[in-house]
Amino acid sequence: MLSVEGLSKVFGGFTAVSDVSFKVDRGEILGLIGPNGSGKSTTFNCIAGHYVPTRGRIAFDGRDITGKPANDICHAGIGRTFQIPRPFHKLTVLENVALAAWFGQNRKVDRTTCWRQAAEALELVGLPRDPHATTEGMGAAALKKLELARALASQPTLLLADESLNGLDPGEMQQAADMLSMIRRERGITIIWVEHIMGVLMRVVDRVVVLNHGAIIYDGNPHGAQENPAVIEVYLGRDAVKHQSGEAHR
Ligand code: ADP
Ligand code: MG
Repeated sequence: MLSVEGLSKVFGGFTAVSDVSFKVDRGEILGLIGPNGSGKSTTFNCIAGHYVPTRGRIAFDGRDITGKPANDICHAGIGRTFQIPRPFHKLTVLENVALAAWFGQNRKVDRTTCWRQAAEALELVGLPRDPHATTEGMGAAALKKLELARALASQPTLLLADESLNGLDPGEMQQAADMLSMIRRERGITIIWVEHIMGVLMRVVDRVVVLNHGAIIYDGNPHGAQENPAVIEVYLGRDAVKHQSGEAHR
């Protein structure tokens, strides 16, 4: 469904993403993980059209989308959430989502359909469909849900979810993970989930790609990642690898 080949992004003299290649199959939930600053959001921003890649090629549904603007990519069926939610605070919650339905999808829809799609997206993420609800006083978890509802309202076939767990407590993290599973199940949406926290993500993803310093260090099943020395070193430090292989006290 998505193929990223030899993707690099250089800012000034700094290479944030270096020769990254991976594929995503239809129906999959792929975890894109790595420590802070490893290039996860930059990779997302290249796919979603917020950055023009320095090198490489991105294809979606067999079409080359490299360097295309964000609105074209959204219309092609790739929805995304942002790591830091920024809703329009002067609009109601429902209006925020309806706006995404109106401008985000490729086919022309009437207003009634937009309102319905917005209400459905709110329901799917578990936010009230109340037309008067405002964004005022919404906590981190609710804002993440709103972010997700806006992405879903654009009727994507591929969803890019950026750091959905940041700022959530452990219970909310479990809920967020279950929600992404449910979205795939109910809507058949393929998902790339970017996260620096490994724990709950591992339970719901089919495969993980691990980035470190802008390069891929692992691509495979979640179980294998947790036993991979390079991944353990990046997450827990060199001593943890020695400990795992029984060398800690030699
Ligand atoms: P992650 O999402 O994995 O935490 P990012 O992709 O946000 O990491 O960032 C990767 C690296 O690229 C970081 O060192 C970051 O400071 C740098 N970076 C990201 N965006 C920019 C930018 N617009 N200009 C300069 N450097 C950037
Ligand atoms: Mg990030």
